[in-house]
Amino acid sequence: MSAYLPAWLGLIISTSLLIILVIGYFQFHRVLRKKTQSEERLQGMFDSTDGILWEADANTFVFTYISPSAERLLGYSTDEWLQPGFWVDHIHPDNRNWAVEYCQQQTQCGLAHDFDYKFICKDGSTIWLRDIVSVIKEEGKPRWLRGLMIDISAQKLLEQKLIKQREAILDVIALSPVPCALCDVDRTLTYVNQAFTQTLGYMLEDVSTLEKWQETVYPDPEYRTWVEKNWQKNDTKNQLGEPILEPLELTLRCKNGDDIHLIINAQPFIEGDIKERLVIFHDVTRRKKAEDELAFKNMLLAAQLEASPDALQLIDDQKRIISTNQRYQDLWGLSKSEVQPGTDGRVQRKVKEKLVKIDSFVERLDDLYQNTEKTYIDEIEFKDGRFFERYSAPLLGAEGHYYGRFWSLRETTERKQTESMIWTQANFDQLTKLPNRRMLHTQLELEIKKAARNKLSISILCLDLDHFKEVNDTLGHSMGDTLLKSASQRLLDCVRETDIVGRLGGDEFIVALCDQASSNDVETVATKILRAFEEPFVLGQEIAHISTSIGITTFPQDGTNFDELLKNADQAMYAAKSAGRSNFHFFTETMQTKAIDRMRMLSDLRSALTNEELYLLYQPIVHLASGKVYKAEALLRWQHPERGIVSPGEFIRLAEESGLIIQIGHWVFQEAAKQTKHWHDNGHTDFQVSINTSPVQFRDSKIDFSEWFEYLEQLDLPGNSLNVEITEGLLMETRGEVMDKLLAFRDAGVLVSLDDFGTGYSSLAYLKKFDIDYLKIDQSFVANLSPGSDDFALCEAIIVMAHKLNLEVIAEGIETREQSDLLIAAGCDFGQGYLYSKPVSTDEFEVFLGGLSR
Ligand code: C2E
Ligand code: MG
Ligand code: MG
Repeated sequence: MSAYLPAWLGLIISTSLLIILVIGYFQFHRVLRKKTQSEERLQGMFDSTDGILWEADANTFVFTYISPSAERLLGYSTDEWLQPGFWVDHIHPDNRNWAVEYCQQQTQCGLAHDFDYKFICKDGSTIWLRDIVSVIKEEGKPRWLRGLMIDISAQKLLEQKLIKQREAILDVIALSPVPCALCDVDRTLTYVNQAFTQTLGYMLEDVSTLEKWQETVYPDPEYRTWVEKNWQKNDTKNQLGEPILEPLELTLRCKNGDDIHLIINAQPFIEGDIKERLVIFHDVTRRKKAEDELAFKNMLLAAQLEASPDALQLIDDQKRIISTNQRYQDLWGLSKSEVQPGTDGRVQRKVKEKLVKIDSFVERLDDLYQNTEKTYIDEIEFKDGRFFERYSAPLLGAEGHYYGRFWSLRETTERKQTESMIWTQANFDQLTKLPNRRMLHTQLELEIKKAARNKLSISILCLDLDHFKEVNDTLGHSMGDTLLKSASQRLLDCVRETDIVGRLGGDEFIVALCDQASSNDVETVATKILRAFEEPFVLGQEIAHISTSIGITTFPQDGTNFDELLKNADQAMYAAKSAGRSNFHFFTETMQTKAIDRMRMLSDLRSALTNEELYLLYQPIVHLASGKVYKAEALLRWQHPERGIVSPGEFIRLAEESGLIIQIGHWVFQEAAKQTKHWHDNGHTDFQVSINTSPVQFRDSKIDFSEWFEYLEQLDLPGNSLNVEITEGLLMETRGEVMDKLLAFRDAGVLVSLDDFGTGYSSLAYLKKFDIDYLKIDQSFVANLSPGSDDFALCEAIIVMAHKLNLEVIAEGIETREQSDLLIAAGCDFGQGYLYSKPVSTDEFEVFLGGLSR
């Protein structure tokens, strides 16, 4: 449309020029009635133009002059033109009335005027004429009309074409799904299409004026100001100088109150000389929403990245950074500019300075960049000691398109430390730091396999510290721990680095001599260990002599796996203990038989009580000064159906280990009490019987000695007719239970003797604390008694101290008169031993009672 403008302008310019010429010509014509040479020249000039010059009577519209061009253009001769009524008659009937009327009105008012009308040509065709008329007055009244007729058919045709085009375009716009409007230069809306009304809800009348438009669609004055400012900025002209609006993104308020996001632009929409603009509204609400959502998602992602405790990085398919979080920057020591989106996302150059194993890191990295679908986890170690779990996953689109990679580095240092701590705890003994049973199992199974392959042997030494329990009991557990630690160090000092030293638990250790060429080596090592243990252990202020018993098994002769070898070594160790401790013993078949034997014995012991195979012997305890017998010790015997008489030394430990000692102990008590009652009833009312007790009976919380006291009451037997022998170790027990039980005996009047005194570590202070009545000197001291001997001095000292503490002393194991005399000389109160009598049956014992006063 804009292309027509210059033609139209040209027409106007040429028309104005003609008018000036016409007026000039007629002025000239009027002044000089007679044609001059120059007048004729001018006449010729007009005749050759496309305009028709004319003159007519102002009142009758009868033409008095018409330029010859009229005939050329319209077909009528000058004569025909000069006929009255010719002009009016040949105006097209469509325009005739109003054209004549208009001309008359203007003429009467004396006004120059112009108007367009259709005129019928001589050949019957119609032509559009523009008549430009000036009124010539004479004596103040319109007298003549002079004018110029121009053929404007072409322009009229064009105008009509444009109108039709505009209508056609408007028809299209009307049906367009895109909201459109037409506005004039004042931004007054002249048209809105259906899509506009549907989208915004407004009819044309709602928003026709600029004021209405602004108040309706931008209710917020502040926003309105913003829009206006930007509108002015974007309201510009194109290259042809036509007014356009550069795209402007706006939010408009719809009639229903919703806000709609639009991009508005305007293009010239020109018809004739009316300059209109076609305003197109692109609804970008959805896009804007998507953009907002994306922006929100990005924000959320950024927040999530930042909130993560891991170091995170997103890279694109070109290994360029999409995003990283602060932790990532800190971890690799990267500056802000180094993590800008778009920069190289690989950190190889930082790897060297930060990581321990660089090659595997880079290898894995390259592998992943090539295999875009791979997801994987590995662990990387930083030089500063930190560990990280590195995770990478591809960023894949719905159709599997590779967009890049996600990297995360999660610190696992603490977890690793915990894991390693747990592993150490699970596999190593906390106290000695030696491998524990579990670790030993793993290590030895491996060694066994190796030895089997290389046809070598392995010797396993199972060590148990002799009397370790006493150290614990007397000097306390922390001293016990110190001893175990130095014992383990001594063991380590005795072996080669390739050998294994471990702790099975308690005071049991394992030494494995791997890759052995000869079995002589093991004897050497075992002897070395025994010697090492001959050195006393310094435990704070105290010194402890602790030996060890060693059981030895050898792979492959004595077993083919760890469990078997260990079990057999353990048996061999027991054999070493039985053989007098502080020695070593090899595992043999006979030892296996012994173990089986022990098992059988235990099962027999279980039925011994019910089968009434147990019985008590009594050994007199002699009052040394008078030689009289007021006391006896009840000693347990087992009449085994096959083995014959079994002594307590052979089965008490089994009974203790199996817990059977509780029932047996109870039986011993009742049996002894009944016997005592019997003797009391027979007149020996002062007679006392000692029974032996096991520490197990005191430790077991299920045992309550009140039952015993009730039993004594039932029998009407005074408490002091019974004497309970306890072992030294019991006094060291810190458990309240043990102490309560001991004190309960005292409260019930039952006497308490400390058996085998001198073999343990009890201190005399304990004797006082627990109200011990008798102290029994262990037979090992008595056995070697001779005048001036150490043992004699020891016995004397014990006796003196005991007396000071108001305790009476019983010496055990007196076999000779000499021993008896020495003890008497040392002031010992009572004696017990083969010199007087072996343990005997009740019947036999009653011989002694004969000598007692009734
Ligand atoms: P014990 O309580 O020290 O008993 C003394 C042990 O020395 C007894 O051995 C006894 O026969 C023995 N004996 C006594 N005089 C002499 C002597 O002159 N020379 C020698 N060489 N030995 C002598 P027995 O009866 O074999 O008992 C051994 C240990 O068994 C007892 O030592 C005691 O600790 C324990 N025992 C015995 N009966 C019981 C019982 O009913 N219950 C508990 N828990 N332990 C018992
Ligand atoms: Mg005893
Ligand atoms: Mg004893």
